[in-house]
Amino acid sequence: MAGRAPFALYVHIPWCRHVCPYCDFNVYAASEPPEAPYVEALATEIAARAAEAAWQGRALRSVYLGGGTPSLLSAESVAKVLGSAARAFGLVPGAEVTIEANPGGLGAERLRGFREAGVTRLSIGAQSFTPAHLRTLGRDHTAADIGAAVAAAREAGLDNLSLDPSSASLAARSRSGRRMSPRRSRSGRLTSRPTR
Ligand code: SF4
Repeated sequence: MAGRAPFALYVHIPWCRHVCPYCDFNVYAASEPPEAPYVEALATEIAARAAEAAWQGRALRSVYLGGGTPSLLSAESVAKVLGSAARAFGLVPGAEVTIEANPGGLGAERLRGFREAGVTRLSIGAQSFTPAHLRTLGRDHTAADIGAAVAAAREAGLDNLSLDPSSASLAARSRSGRRMSPRRSRSGRLTSRPTR
């Protein structure tokens, strides 16, 4: 089985502190998710999948903790999930391990914990830097929170960052004078479409 192609693992964490009105993902509102039983269930699921022929002998080239808001989890829980994945499949050298995060309430200490748990990349759900757009989207963070999250990530030693904004498209469409109906696409990117 050795030498089979590595693959990418996506792990869904289906909780957010607040469910945005445009979101069509499988998410539930909770400021304190039931993470212990969920992490245990994930470990069971990962081990079961690893026993399937399709995945045997295949290491992980990337792991993506998405949601939802995976950054609601404690660093200990993130370490348990990543440990389960590493034990089940193994990681190729330099494998990228991403966690999605909401900009609100992200401190350097929390992010350092994620890095120490094995996270190598942070995807910050910025969506927009324009306060009016954030209000339209029903986001529960401010534009200032985004800058603070980036600074905290750098302080924590997480230099591999991505922002998930739609400000350019929203701004461009807004300048055209049309009302916008923001939606989140299956790819995880926020898209916008004009409404009548
Ligand atoms: S858009 Fe993002 S932050 Fe908002 S409810 Fe959906 S997953 Fe959560």
